[in-house]
Formats: sequence, structure tokens, C-alpha cells
Amino acid sequence: MPTIAKIVIIGSGPAGAAAAAALFKKDPQLIDDILILEKEHHPRHKLCGGGLTPWADEMLELLDLQVEVPSCPLKSIDFYLNDKPVTFASQNIMRTIRRDEFDAALVQKIRDRGMHLLEGVKVTDIQLQPDKVMLETTAGEIHADILVGADGVKSLVRRKFMRENPSRISRLIEVLVPIEEKKLTPEFRQQKAVLDFRPINVGLQGYIWDFPSYIDGKPVLNVGIFDSRVNSGERADLPALLRAHLQSRGFDGDYKLHGWPERWYHPVQQISCPRVVVTGDAAGIEPWLGEGISTALSYGPIVADAVFNALQTNDLSFSGYRLRMKKSRLGWYISRKRNVAQLIYRPGFYKVLPMFGRILSCYMNLKKW
Ligand SMILES: Cc1cc2nc3c(=O)[nH]c(=O)nc-3n(C[C@H](O)[C@H](O)[C@H](O)COP(=O)(O)OP(=O)(O)OC[C@H]3O[C@@H](n4cnc5c(N)ncnc54)[C@H](O)[C@@H]3O)c2cc1C
Repeated sequence: MPTIAKIVIIGSGPAGAAAAAALFKKDPQLIDDILILEKEHHPRHKLCGGGLTPWADEMLELLDLQVEVPSCPLKSIDFYLNDKPVTFASQNIMRTIRRDEFDAALVQKIRDRGMHLLEGVKVTDIQLQPDKVMLETTAGEIHADILVGADGVKSLVRRKFMRENPSRISRLIEVLVPIEEKKLTPEFRQQKAVLDFRPINVGLQGYIWDFPSYIDGKPVLNVGIFDSRVNSGERADLPALLRAHLQSRGFDGDYKLHGWPERWYHPVQQISCPRVVVTGDAAGIEPWLGEGISTALSYGPIVADAVFNALQTNDLSFSGYRLRMKKSRLGWYISRKRNVAQLIYRPGFYKVLPMFGRILSCYMNLKKW
């Protein structure tokens, strides 16, 4: 006998947790109608810088998902547009967390509310029928009225049901550099993050980051490179750029580079079909900084509104979901960030980067007055 659920959410990263929490907020009676499927067991590894901006904390509060996890609070962010950084400083400008701990805590919060989450269950195939969605999983067949694909950037839901043309994929590589307690780098001593945009002048459409973080209480510098690829053109050699950066910082160990993509959202792209919606990385995030955790959380209320409306009206076409997303604050925000990315990461813009840095610096100083 197949398991039957009204709403199945595939994936329990921030997008899946936010969708579930927002649905619960909308109508607590939906609790027994929601089933979340997760192929891994929490705490599971997720490649990520773990940078959380105040926007993420705002969303966690809105969703009643505030979680107590070890985090490294930062006081400033240095933006390198030329050799002298522009510094943005304010209390709580950003903090870093470890994703295994953070996502496990989110999931625990969902479970504490009584929601049903099956870990270690992978969805292997999905068939769409006029009256239901049929999921093949490693725990047997599951039937659902509505399917929410929160299954990340390589989403099976997306691959099965959403047309894609062209592909909007950014590339990232990350390295973890253990730091000796007695040789703490400025990122730890001054509690700051660094974003270095200077490699734009060699074709990178992004930046290199240095984020201080702690793993099991030990300082580890999270270093990575982000290539948004929002514009066409020749691609930068990411491993070479990252290795050069590590060397310039005096990190000459044999560090393992780990890569993973991100998807950037565009308002014309398909993000739903009858009975099915996608969210978080499966739908797409912003391509300027690649800030995906707050984006994934912000999708939650939009998905919940769409699902709740579908249940109320018995119209499971989700034909309005793309427009709902486009017109939302999140849709507007991502589109603005895409415009910024397309401008700044355009070939030739590096020539005006230093001037841009000076304007930004003046603006920041004026703001202090
Ligand atoms: C190197 C790197 C650094 C980053 N740094 C930052 C940062 O500093 N700050 C920031 O805000 N964002 C960052 N991001 C982006 C951020 O990690 C993602 O945007 C975010 O994880 C998206 O959340 P999600 O819930 O949509 O997807 P995910 O977190 O990927 O969750 C998807 C879940 O679905 C599960 N799943 C997938 N397929 C199946 C299946 N078939 N069956 C069952 N379960 C399935 C997965 O196991 C996973 O748990 C970074 C990304 C990368 C690659």
C-alpha cells in the first residue's frame, strides 16, 4: 500500500524547513497533511560559507525558526574593489554558522511542532497523474496531492517537470583552512569577513571570500570563490584563482578543493506545473553574492501562500506561482541583484572598479555622519 499525504516536501534544507514552517503558520491544522522527505540523515554535510546576514535572521524570526547554534558574530565586511578595502561596519552585520548544525537545528524545530519528516528516504522517480503525484522512494511508493520541490540545486523535481532554457548556473569552490590559535588571522582577530572582487579583472564574474568560522570550537577559515556566470564570455579558471589566493595568504598546505553549483533565478523561468512547485535552490537565488540561505527561507511564505490558496480553491494548477514569485518582495530583490551582477560582472567593468570603490567609500563615510 502506498503512503498517502496531501502535501509532500522533498528536501529538508532551509527551503524545505521554511516551506513547512510557513505552511504550519498559515494553518496549524495542516500538520498531519505535510510529509517531508530527506535522503540524508541530519546533521548532514552541506558545502557552504555559512554566512548569515540580518535578512536571514529576520526570516527565521518571521517563520518562528530561531535556532540556537554555535555562530561566529562579525563586526565588519571588507570589500576589495581595489587595493584599499571599503569597510562596512555595524553590529550584527553578519554571522557565520556551520550548515550541518544549522540545518539539523531547523529540522528539530519543525519536528518539535509535530511535523512528519522521514530521513534517509531518497525520492528516485516522480510521475505526474491527473489526480495525484506518484513518488518512488527508497521507502516505497508515496502518493501526494501537491509536491513541493525543495531538493536543492540538482533538483529531481526540476529536472522532471520544469523546462529550462538557457541554464542559469553559477559555480563555487570552497576550502577549509584550519588556523592555529596562536596565529589567528585578521578575520578572527577583527571579527570580519572579506569579499575580494579584484579577480573580476581576470574574467571572474564574482569574488573570493574569507569567512572566519569555528568547527568543534576550533578556528577554521572558510575560503571560497564564486563565479556567478550571469554574463556570457570566457570562464575564469576558478581552481587556479583560488590556489593563487591561498598562496598569497601564506596557506600552502595541500588543501582539498570542493565545488558545488548554485542556480540563479530569472522571472521568465518555469517554477511550477500542475500539482508541483519548486523553491529555494531548486527555483533559483540571487547571482550577485550568491546569498542562498536567506533566499531559501524567504521563499517559504510564498510557497505556503500558493499551496494554501490551491487547497482553498481546489485549483492545483499553480498557474499563478511564477507571477506570485515575480511580484513578491523576494522576486523584486533577486531581480535587482541580477541587474547589479550583470552590470558589475560585465567584461570591462573592472576598469571602473577603483572609481566605483571610491564612490562606495565616500557613500559609506557620508552615512556615518
Ligand atoms: C560553496 C558554497 C558556499 C555558499 N555559501 C553561502 C553563504 O555563505 N551564505 C548563503 O546565504 N548561502 C551560501 N550558499 C548557498 C546556500 O548553500 C544554498 O543556497 C542553500 O543551501 C539553499 O537551500 P535549499 O534548502 O534550497 O537547498 P539545500 O540546502 O541543498 O537542501 C536540499 C535538500 O534536499 C535533499 N534532497 C535532494 N534530493 C533529494 C531526493 N531526491 N530525495 C530526498 N531528499 C533530497 C538534500 O539532501 C538536501 O538536504 C553557498 C553555496 C555553495 C555551493
